[in-house]
Amino acid sequence: MKAAVVTVGDEILIGQITDTNSGYIAKALDKIGISVYEMLSVSDDRRHILDTLAMLQNRVAVVIITGGLGPTKDDITKTTFCEYFDDHLVRNADVEAHVVELIEKALKRPASQINKDQALVPSKATVLHNAVGTAPGMWMKKADTVYISLPGVPYEMKYIVDTEVIPRLIEAYERPFILHQTIMTYGQGESTVAERIESWEVNLPKFIKLAYLPSPGKVRLRLSGTGVDETSVRLAIDHEVSKLRDIIGDIIVGFNEDEPLEVILGRMLTEKGLTVSAAESCTGGRIGTLFTSVAGSSVYFKGSAVTYSTDSKISVLGIEHQLIDIFSVVSAKIAEVMALKAKKMFGTDYAVSTTGNAGPAKGDSAAGVGVVFIGIATPTGAYSIKCELGQPREKVIERAANKALELIYQEILKN
Ligand code: ATP
Ligand code: MG
Repeated sequence: MKAAVVTVGDEILIGQITDTNSGYIAKALDKIGISVYEMLSVSDDRRHILDTLAMLQNRVAVVIITGGLGPTKDDITKTTFCEYFDDHLVRNADVEAHVVELIEKALKRPASQINKDQALVPSKATVLHNAVGTAPGMWMKKADTVYISLPGVPYEMKYIVDTEVIPRLIEAYERPFILHQTIMTYGQGESTVAERIESWEVNLPKFIKLAYLPSPGKVRLRLSGTGVDETSVRLAIDHEVSKLRDIIGDIIVGFNEDEPLEVILGRMLTEKGLTVSAAESCTGGRIGTLFTSVAGSSVYFKGSAVTYSTDSKISVLGIEHQLIDIFSVVSAKIAEVMALKAKKMFGTDYAVSTTGNAGPAKGDSAAGVGVVFIGIATPTGAYSIKCELGQPREKVIERAANKALELIYQEILKN
């Protein structure tokens, strides 16, 4: 069963706002076994909207439209929607009562005529209640296609999708059951992971698909199983996951897509009663930001010294001037020493450090653009690794911080 998502608004087309509604809707539909076949963004233009609705007629079973439902002149989706169905607007008493109450409560003034006109809906439409705003959603059917129009404001759209659209679609259609399972891996690149799991992958049953979703330092594997009922799909996916565990158990860090490494790492450090700190040069505090983004991280994260200049590496961390002269500030040795100094200064079990050249210019060190040394101090020693992290600057910083967390993660695993 296929769906299309149409976002309406000149703001989207001129790049003033980024369409986030489509992604939300696609995820929500996907969960109930409806796949989004296409996404379109169109202007606040009657002809353009009409043509789009006609184009999608019978091509997909469900069309969800967001935006352009407001009371202002530029919002023409509702009248155009009405025109497409050869319908006329009628006043919906329930919606009007809701609008009046909402305006009086929120704005402490009586609702204006413009507000009240939000209660005008096509006579044939099923109204989708919008408890968090004044523009109701609308559901209409023409031939075999259902058209659903929703307000553009994301939280209003989300509210109606969750409370009205999804339950009604579940009720109205028989859909296949789709189950996704994410497997998070850290520390090996996409191609290495692919090689390791190749024979498992080619033997996957036809109804289970595998997707690789790589990002700096990690690869998410997503299994999507389709079937008639939840139990059989769940069983099949669990079976495949357990086989996968036997093959790449060493790099699997979790199964929750929304769980970043800093959260996983935080849990491990807490469980093991270990502490960590950092000394950051080119990452400028990014490692500290990652750690402290997790609530309760003060239990295991003791601090990060952002020592961006050579002077501060000497004065704050206490690195000997001579050492920097000999090895250069961006070097394996200095990364190692920075980690050791941080470990001592913060009194932690582990410490991590970065020193590198994030670019874009070569700078005054001998290191090439994108070269970052990451140092790790452990309870038993210290080492550093050299990473070539490419460009642009922002990515180098992000990759270096992720890599630093990943290295600590691997050390903690050994503990
Ligand atoms: P309103 O009643 O507030 O006018 P509306 O249904 O008319 O709602 P629009 O006027 O199209 O919606 O958009 C209102 C605001 O909602 C936009 O300024 C924008 O901030 C946000 N918005 C609209 N469409 C999207 C979208 N596709 N993705 C993310 N945000 C959006
Ligand atoms: Mg509007």
